[in-house]
Amino acid sequence: MKKKALITGISGQDGSYLAKLLISKNYIVYGGDRRTASGSLWRLEELNIREKINIIDFELSEDSNITNVIRVSKFDEIYNLAAQSFVGSSYQTPLMTTDVNGLGVARILEAIRNYSPNTKLYQASTSEMYGNTVSTKQDENAKFHPTSPYAISKLYAHWMINLYREAYDLYACAGILFNHESPLRGEEFVTKKIVRELTKIKFKKKGCLSLGNIYTKRDWGFAGDYVDAMWQMLQQQKPHDFVIASGRTHSIKEFVNVTARYLGFSLIWKGKGLNEYAVEQKSGKKVVQIDKKFFRPTDVNLLKGNYSKASKILKWKPSTSFKSLIQMMCDYEISKFK
Ligand code: NDP
Ligand code: GDP
Repeated sequence: MKKKALITGISGQDGSYLAKLLISKNYIVYGGDRRTASGSLWRLEELNIREKINIIDFELSEDSNITNVIRVSKFDEIYNLAAQSFVGSSYQTPLMTTDVNGLGVARILEAIRNYSPNTKLYQASTSEMYGNTVSTKQDENAKFHPTSPYAISKLYAHWMINLYREAYDLYACAGILFNHESPLRGEEFVTKKIVRELTKIKFKKKGCLSLGNIYTKRDWGFAGDYVDAMWQMLQQQKPHDFVIASGRTHSIKEFVNVTARYLGFSLIWKGKGLNEYAVEQKSGKKVVQIDKKFFRPTDVNLLKGNYSKASKILKWKPSTSFKSLIQMMCDYEISKFK
């Protein structure tokens, strides 16, 4: 019999890639979507899978909605990818972020416990939970030191997953995913912003990319590789949490430089701190500048994951390099311009 899976956050980056994967594995896929004025499912259209998904109303802040959906459909698997996912916004909306990302997961767990205890649950945990950790190795045993309302909301959810697994024997597990990007990444995230803006500058020959702290470092991978690990996690004998990462780290400035090079710019950096900027060598035009408004009240300085456990148990490894990821994102933006 075909398996039935619910993906919450179906309109997001990971929801779309995961839906594509599950369809290829012959699942009946339900996509949880909340009401928005735009109602846009453009990513599903971009991947040519819109018609293959059963869209259902799903709002993480609404108990009755979650309970009904889970009670009636009794899914084999639920992938909870829905969230207020942007760290930057979580400083402006700490309560909503906590409600959706934290309590939303408690609502799902309660509904599963009461009405569908055989449903397996995947929770989208995040490397942001490590924050500025004192641990030198960022693996499943590293200490958490969350440094944003977003990270704290996700850590609450993470512990609830662990608690319900232990207390009620549910098949619930969390993937601690490090940053993962793609052509379908949300526009507010720094990678997409850099690629989009620099591509615009290349074609329109005007404009300037404004960034915040370019010295933080992130461990970036390709979302298409990471959704495969999510699925693997629900196919094990027993539920476990796993770190999923590339194992490499790069600064935002390096991301800018590699993107610029691929797009045919040669950048020369000048100045320091808020006065730092980059000019294009040939034209001498300023193409990157620093703007205070993109700095966060607190930030995570360095993320670099250790995915040995996933490699050993899930036989998972990333297949897309930092450079190929950037090229893929640039090629997509270029194709939109053309
Ligand atoms: P996106 O921001 O692209 O997608 C988030 C999804 O959640 C969207 O479909 C959004 O719907 C939905 N959503 C937001 N609020 C609610 C709500 N109140 N009720 C129901 N749905 C809601 O995120 P990604 O796909 O990049 O990430 C997927 C998950 O993985 C998220 O939980 C994120 O926090 C987590 N994560 C992501 C990482 C990354 O690097 N991408 C790293 C680690 C964890 P709408 O379109 O209506 O806004
Ligand atoms: P995050 O790791 O989930 O917060 O992913 P982001 O892509 O939003 O941010 C990654 C890093 O880039 C953070 O340290 C940000 O402070 C830094 N950064 C610098 N400038 C910007 C910017 O203009 N936008 C965003 N989103 N991040 C920026």
